[in-house]
Amino acid sequence: MDIQKISEMDRGSTLHPFTHLHDFSRGKNGNNPVIIEGAKGIRIRDAQGHEFIDALAGLYCVNVGYGREEIAEAIARQAYKLAYYHTYTGYTTDELAKLSDRLVKMAPGKMSKVFYGQSGSDANETQVKLVWYYNNLRGKPKKKKIIARERAYHGSTIVTGSLTGMSFYHDNMDLPVSGILRTGAPHYYWGANPGESELEFSARRARELEELILREDPETIGAFIAEPALGSGGLTPPPAGYWAAIQEVLTKYDILLIADEVVTGFGRTGAMFGSHKFDIKPDLITVAKGMTSAYAPLSAVMVGEKVYEVLDAGSEKVGVFSHGYTYSGHPIGIAAANATLDILEREDLPGNAASVGEYFLASLREAFKDSPIVGEVRGVGLMAAIEFVADPATKQRFDAKLKIGARVSAAARERGLIARALPHGDILGFTPPLVLTKTDVDDIVGITRQAVAQVANEVMSARV
Ligand SMILES: *Cc1c(COP(=O)(O)O)cnc(C)c1O
Repeated sequence: MDIQKISEMDRGSTLHPFTHLHDFSRGKNGNNPVIIEGAKGIRIRDAQGHEFIDALAGLYCVNVGYGREEIAEAIARQAYKLAYYHTYTGYTTDELAKLSDRLVKMAPGKMSKVFYGQSGSDANETQVKLVWYYNNLRGKPKKKKIIARERAYHGSTIVTGSLTGMSFYHDNMDLPVSGILRTGAPHYYWGANPGESELEFSARRARELEELILREDPETIGAFIAEPALGSGGLTPPPAGYWAAIQEVLTKYDILLIADEVVTGFGRTGAMFGSHKFDIKPDLITVAKGMTSAYAPLSAVMVGEKVYEVLDAGSEKVGVFSHGYTYSGHPIGIAAANATLDILEREDLPGNAASVGEYFLASLREAFKDSPIVGEVRGVGLMAAIEFVADPATKQRFDAKLKIGARVSAAARERGLIARALPHGDILGFTPPLVLTKTDVDDIVGITRQAVAQVANEVMSARV
């Protein structure tokens, strides 16, 4: 492969997501194409032959690890047999019917039906439309606003980018659109008042939610959308008592709960779904990423019985359900999902995420308990994060210009480890494939320790 040639073509003609356009197109400040050539297990390899441990599983999605031939073969078999047919007006395939039945049975809460899309963003768009449709059909046309949280990530389209609770995703894009309300994040480390316990903090968040609902008028609020554990906003498990307190408020005001399980679904938290882990009873569930382990694009909206009954009864009045995509239930994605779920169940990857995740978190805590720049190590299952601060005793933040999170991430990459500097603060995030072993954990923690020590040294020597 002519690496130079490929780089020039890419630089000259690709508009990359979440990339500094000017620097990338000119190759400034180290913004260069990285050509990824192959991957196996938890490791990826670039065109120059460098190997990296991918402690992020792509973008929290390659849960069964790279290079699983069983999934490639399922995709190939499907492509030879029937690469595509649509699912409008009742057309289906055997694999699709099997997957829907399987999802409804394995999901938390009382699910009834599955609607398919291609991405987490389009699935959350569908959720918003379903909430509006549901409330129109049951004669509550004002009950439309959606409450989302600070630090949430729900996608990058117009409505889902608006649900996302980080300004970085809104600025200069005319977002958020109207009809979206915002409430506080369940982030104990940054959100708690001095001396406040986790339970007290959770109760306060629930009180704030209730106040918001009353201020806006409950009759105008359709749904609350949330990730069971925060993903891109900081890889943060909820504080004790949070979900019980929040669900009580939602039930009281007849507000639907949408669980965005795009990251937490399919084993990431150590249970099959985050809703199982945190005792959440959602009305609607969004899944994507882990469902196919990203071997092919596929997302799904699971519709609970309560909502489905209204849609079903509404058919009499309004006729067909007028929503869908050319690729809803695309056979290639469906084949990848069934093969992925086979592996997930056979190898008990949620169980592995729980046990290896516990070891991972304990190892990270041990490694950084005395670090002068680490404020918190947190996680659940195989999602974990390190929060960097200038002074752990006072939680004083680093000057954002120092880009501490990005520097630690870069130092790790130089040593062969991919871990993500998350966008909201100085955070290094880990969401490795769920096939991780304890030996892999030792490798990851060893490299992370060196990377953090390097940046800590730079910071300390700049202070004297
Ligand atoms: C990634 C993500 C999405 C959006 O999924 P895309 O496939 O990138 O559109 C939605 N919700 C959560 C929680 C995510 O992490």
